[in-house]
Amino acid sequence: MSKFWSPFVKDLVPYVPGEQPKLAKLVKLNTNENPYGPSPKAIAAMQAELNDNLRLYPDPNGERLKQAVADYYGVRLDQVFVGNGSDEVLAHAFHGLFQHDKPLLFPDISYSFYPVYCGLYGISAEVIALDEQFRIRVEDYARPNGGIVFPNPNAPTGCLLALEAIEHVLKANPDSVVLVDEAYIDFGGATAISLVDQYPNLLVTQTLSKSRSLAGLRVGLAVGHPDLIEALERIKNSFNSYPLDRMAIAGAAAAFADREYFERTCQQVIESRELTVAGLQALGFEVLPSAANFVFARHPHKDAATLAAGLREQGVIVRHFTQARIAQFLRISIGAPEQNQALLDALSSL
Ligand SMILES: *Cc1c(COP(=O)(O)O)cnc(C)c1O
Repeated sequence: MSKFWSPFVKDLVPYVPGEQPKLAKLVKLNTNENPYGPSPKAIAAMQAELNDNLRLYPDPNGERLKQAVADYYGVRLDQVFVGNGSDEVLAHAFHGLFQHDKPLLFPDISYSFYPVYCGLYGISAEVIALDEQFRIRVEDYARPNGGIVFPNPNAPTGCLLALEAIEHVLKANPDSVVLVDEAYIDFGGATAISLVDQYPNLLVTQTLSKSRSLAGLRVGLAVGHPDLIEALERIKNSFNSYPLDRMAIAGAAAAFADREYFERTCQQVIESRELTVAGLQALGFEVLPSAANFVFARHPHKDAATLAAGLREQGVIVRHFTQARIAQFLRISIGAPEQNQALLDALSSL
């Protein structure tokens, strides 16, 4: 604390990201990064941007990327927003769409950045408990609110909600924005972007950090009704008019254009996930059904914190959350086949 701080800074509770260890040899299965590199076409597009033009500001609108996203999803340019990582897109949505008198609703077990943004923007929140199987119960979201947000598939559980269930929430809340955070949708779910023309209260966010393997580039996006997109643009242009640099715009646009590489690598992750689930179950773990690039698992007789520490000693890092209902679970990212095998070997030795 310092006398120089604005008063509200002392009350902020910042987000704590998963560890990014400096040691290269570790089997890093703690932050849901993609084991396969970005599309070679994305890398080539970024290399082509690495020239004297860097003296010039980028396109403040990131139109080349918006167009690539619009083409990919068959939507219009004015339905697309792009930002510096979907965390930034989410921040603008909280700031521009969720500051109302009534509380924002989100699940008790969910992305831990949501309560952080509520703290930053002074938004009151009401957390809605997942059911006993750690699933979202859509009926619970028919209550007074100033907005609704949840990841689909949910994080850190990996559980997927069907589009019909999302429509149920949209119909029950015509006067609220329902934000579906699709950070992991490409690993087995159907995107709600197909619903944006029908529901003016739907905003869908996605990231290139997971399924397009560009976590280091920091690019995210939102798709929704032009009125919702305009709120995000107004916030963005009051904060930083050039959030995406020249290389990010070029690389992300090329990643969206390379459908073949994207589909193939997603499929490889999905196949590895199924093998990892089978391996964990053979060791006695209970694994929640996952449609993401991670699994959420607990062992009936082994303490999760002890397992995480034991894995670390063997050079494998996974994520363990201390929150009450999930303290006995480990969240394990799906890595390359040899990394997943190293995890299973280390667990069986424990
Ligand atoms: C990873 C993640 C994000 C953020 O991704 P960015 O890297 O900021 O684009 C958003 N929501 C959830 C649920 C995530 O897991």
